[in-house]
Amino acid sequence: MKMPIPDYLTEILDHVRDSDGGEVADYIPELAGADPDRLALALCTTSGHVYSAGEHADVEFTIQSISKPFVFALALQELGTDAVMEVVGLEPSGEAFNELSLDDNDNRPVNPMINAGAIAVNQLINGVDSSVEERVEKIRDLFSRLAGRELRIDGGLSASELDGADRNLSIAHMLRSYGIIRDSAHDAVRSYTDQCSILVTTRDLAVMSATLATGGVQPVTGERLLSPEACRLTLAVMSSAGMYDGAGRWMAGVGIPAKSGVSGGLIGTLPGQLGIASFSPRLDSQGNSVRGVRMFELLSHDMGLHLMSADQQSVPGVRSITRDGDDTVIRLQGTINFTAAENILHELSAHNLGGTRLVLDVSRVTSFNRMGRRMVKEGLRRLREDGFRCSIFDPDGVVTNLEFSDGTLVDTVDVL
Ligand code: GLN
Repeated sequence: MKMPIPDYLTEILDHVRDSDGGEVADYIPELAGADPDRLALALCTTSGHVYSAGEHADVEFTIQSISKPFVFALALQELGTDAVMEVVGLEPSGEAFNELSLDDNDNRPVNPMINAGAIAVNQLINGVDSSVEERVEKIRDLFSRLAGRELRIDGGLSASELDGADRNLSIAHMLRSYGIIRDSAHDAVRSYTDQCSILVTTRDLAVMSATLATGGVQPVTGERLLSPEACRLTLAVMSSAGMYDGAGRWMAGVGIPAKSGVSGGLIGTLPGQLGIASFSPRLDSQGNSVRGVRMFELLSHDMGLHLMSADQQSVPGVRSITRDGDDTVIRLQGTINFTAAENILHELSAHNLGGTRLVLDVSRVTSFNRMGRRMVKEGLRRLREDGFRCSIFDPDGVVTNLEFSDGTLVDTVDVL
């Protein structure tokens, strides 16, 4: 069976493809030349299955502010929470990403997702005495492991940003004047700008985001890279401050901890379930990708991903697969949301299904959400196309709508 998930992702891309609102960031000269029409979407589950759509899913772009949560997590892991909290707070700022602002009471940047906080956190990596080169290398090495491939820095872009970095330099001077950083303002901004200039693809970002979702184990390579505590705290800050002054509306509407970057990337992380990433360079006035935000709204709504919705608890959707003569019986269980349905379809396509008839037993399923039902039915339809006779055992009527997308009906069996 061919997995239907890339088709769903393509549907989402098709929905937003023609929208041309927003502007490409132009305060960094090299970003101004980016192709505004580039578009990609990728998703990685905590079991390490990666799906992508769009002809630009493997195109590289600079990570920009999406680097902030990962460097924050690295600092938490290297120094512990208390030491990191000495230089940065955890409160949402409700301000622009490049605001020249510190907390009125303690002079710390309010959170690590705005530039002031990210410059302060960058300075903690590899110790306060580290050279810029060693600090940046430590970050590049972690990002490479998070992505599962060797990443490089776009030196041209970094130099072009540094050339006009008056605002970030002012922030760094301000941090130095309060004793929050020790390096010269120029070195601090050079280090931070290099961190922002690491080249990633949409696919890389989905896997990196999924590593936060697992609590720190890179789901494809299996390598533990971050501690569960560091991931938890990072996701908490992403949920309140990841979308800058749009964070409150984002959490209400989309409900996924997220981080955006000015080159057009956007990541979302559903703890325990998924990492999602999108790429589309045109930005809104808050510096968030216009089509990226729209794609996340659609994904959250269609796939039932809002973190605050009641159907988020996730169990493996497949209880057992057994063979009985010509029949293969697939027993499902629990709440079938997107993640559970992905697990079911993955099991069905990986399993060497024998016999001629497949019976899907949903008697132990407590409920399907809309996306779970849609995906399981689509899986059955595709298995039927592959030549299996497919039917469903649904004594409690949990599937509710037995019509396939092509208008035919799912066969039912009365007894098992
Ligand atoms: N390097 C960029 C800057 O500091 C990152 C900002 C962003 O992506 N929002 O301006």
